[in-house]
Formats: sequence, structure tokens, C-alpha cells
Amino acid sequence: MSNTATLTHATAQRADFPGLLTPDGEPWHYLDTAATAQKPQAVIDAMSRALGRDYATVHRGVYGRSAQMTLGYEAARRRVADFMGARSDNEVVFVRGATEAINLVADSWGMTHIGEGDRIVLSTLEHHSNIVPWQMVAERTGAHIDVCPLTEDHRIDLGALEALLTPRTRLVSLAHVSNVLGSVLDGRRAADLAHSVGAKILLDGCQAAPRMALDMAALDCDFYAWSGHKLYGPTGIGVLWAREDILDAMPPWQGGGAMIDKVTFEKTTYAPPPQRFEAGTPMITEAIALHAAIDYVAARGPDRLFAHEAALANQLREELRNVNSVTLFGPEESAGIVSFAMEGVHPHDLGTILDEENVAIRAGHHCAQPLMEHLGVPATARASFGLYSDESDIAALMRGIERTQRIFG
Ligand code: PMP
Repeated sequence: MSNTATLTHATAQRADFPGLLTPDGEPWHYLDTAATAQKPQAVIDAMSRALGRDYATVHRGVYGRSAQMTLGYEAARRRVADFMGARSDNEVVFVRGATEAINLVADSWGMTHIGEGDRIVLSTLEHHSNIVPWQMVAERTGAHIDVCPLTEDHRIDLGALEALLTPRTRLVSLAHVSNVLGSVLDGRRAADLAHSVGAKILLDGCQAAPRMALDMAALDCDFYAWSGHKLYGPTGIGVLWAREDILDAMPPWQGGGAMIDKVTFEKTTYAPPPQRFEAGTPMITEAIALHAAIDYVAARGPDRLFAHEAALANQLREELRNVNSVTLFGPEESAGIVSFAMEGVHPHDLGTILDEENVAIRAGHHCAQPLMEHLGVPATARASFGLYSDESDIAALMRGIERTQRIFG
């Protein structure tokens, strides 16, 4: 599909998203989809049905509605498995979000496989949720964290990664797509490198899952984490995908109902995965709404979404290059996320002025303080696109930037 055709297509989708209007019914130029995506009506309806006429608990009910709800919950797991190219539903653990997924891997797998003197490789551009859990493991075990540097154009440097790996490297944990710069990692190459020294690899797919076709077999990673709310679904649900043999060997994380096989005061045995990692009443309605979100995204073709958003990012970079006071960060080729700074204007002030124009951008460190330090700035302004974004959003942003220049000029 041509660029113009995809943009027209996106404009047509806007009507599906009630959140893209202001309370006065004006267009709201939402450029913060990397933080969280707006929801299509189909997702809102699915959530509302699940909370209303279909509502009941799962797994333990003997009445019809609970059995139906259980089918709905497990159908959501099946849908996620299909969407990610998983080999089995058992590889899909529902968690609260990517943060919880990474903490689960750190606490369960990390605390059993990482010991004193072992090494964990992260990169300069990681989100705090892919740094802090590993620092906590390192503190508790005496392991060491190696930081893989970036290339000059702000991508994870795979040559440097290769040089960092040692036989003591137990885990490589990297962002598939950077939430600040949109840099896309060659996940398969990173996985091959990690595996060449016997390490496991976790990919933080928070920004990739909503934008790229996922295929766990082709990626050949060991763990993959993402959040439903960034994929047009509700908050409070996310996915940890892990290879079945790895999950099978992992000890439970949280204890409680639903994760057991048999409980006595003498000894408790645990359910197989994924139930072993889903203690307590799960996110029932959220899972069902996530199913609707995946249907919505899949119908539009994840590959087309990437191309559409990358084209918008290119166009925005092109226009920002004509503004003298703007510095751009990140590679030329990126997913639909653009970070920049305006000389003499704090990103928060820019964000406030843009808000008056019904343009929502993100301003701050984006939970990536080590990356900010590397870029030499305390914060950046970030515009991020979604499947509903179009040229009118860029035009509104550029009008706001021109006004900001006049104010600060
Ligand atoms: N990793 C990346 C790359 C992200 O963009 C985010 C969210 N900004 C997270 C992890 C954490 O996701 P959540 O807050 O939904 O758990």
C-alpha cells in the first residue's frame, strides 16, 4: 500500500477511537501512543460486556457463566499465542504488564540461574523496568551488570554486544524497540549472539508488539515481555512469553490460589505453567478486552502499522530539521517514535504550550535516565505515533512549535 493510502486509511480509523476528541468535540492530536495507546470502541465494548452481562469468575465456577468466562479467558491466551507465533498456549503467562513480566523473570529465573560473578548484559537505552529488576538481582546475588553501548546513531551496538559476552554471561536483556528513540534491534542477531555463549535473552517488546509482526520462532529469544495498554488494550494486563521448557523449570513466583496442584501443611505442589505463574483471581475482563485489541490490530496488519508510523516519523524528522533550534535524537530509520530538544526551551514548557493547541506530546526522561545522561540532556520532547496518527497531527505539532519559537524567540 502506498504511503498516501496508508495515511488515508489511518485517518478513517480515527472514528473508532472516542479518546481522540477533546470534551468539546475538537480533534485531539495525541502524540503519546508510546506511553499508552488510545482504545478503539471495539475494546471498550468488549470490556464493558465482560464487566456486565458476561461477568463471573474463571476456573473454579460450576455454573454456566463461569464456564463461559473461563473459555473467554483461555481464548484470549490462545489469541495471544497465535499473534506472537508461539508454539503453545502454555508459553503465554498473563501478567499485569511488561514491568511485572520482567520482575517475574528476574525473581524466578534470575534468582535460580544467576549467581555471584555471573554477568547480565543490558544496554544504554533500556527503560528503567529493564534495568532496576536486574540491579536488584545483581545486589542479591553478587552478579555484575555490563552495559552495551550504542552506535553513533543511537542503536544498540551489536558489535559491542559480541565483545561484551563471556562464558559467565547468563542473560542479555534488551529493548526490541526503544521507547525514546524508536531504534529497532535486530532481535534474531542479538539472540544468536547471546546463545553463542550459552546465555538466555529477554526482549522487552513493549514498543515492538504494537508496531511489528511478532514471530517467536523466527526471533528465537527465550523471554518476551509486553503490555496490553500499549497495544490498544486495557491497562492492568500484559504478557510474558517464555519457551515452554524454560517456564517448566522455573520455580513459582507468587504463591496463592490457582497456581497450585495440591496444598497440605506438610507439602504443596504446584500447577504446570502458565497457571504456576498466575496466582490469584486473574485479570479476567482485561484479558477478554486484550483479545479484542489484538483482533483490531491484526485486522490492520502489524507490518502495515510499522510502515505507516515509520513514514510519519520520517516526515516529522524532515520538518523538524528545518527548525534551526531543534536537535533530533535517534536513528534515521526508526519505529514511529521521535525524540527532540529545542534550544532554550525546556521540554515541559514546550509540552504545556502544545497542550493549549490540543497537541499531546511527552516531555521528560521517559524512564530512561541513563540514556538521557548519554544524550547529555535532562529530558527530551517525544512525539510517538499510533495506527490512528496522520499528517494532521504533524501539522498541529509544527504549528505549536512555531508558536513556541515566537514566544521564546
Ligand atoms: N519497556 C519499555 C520499552 C516501555 O516503553 C515501557 C513503558 N513505557 C515499559 C517497559 C514498561 O511498561 P509498563 O509500564 O506498561 O509495565
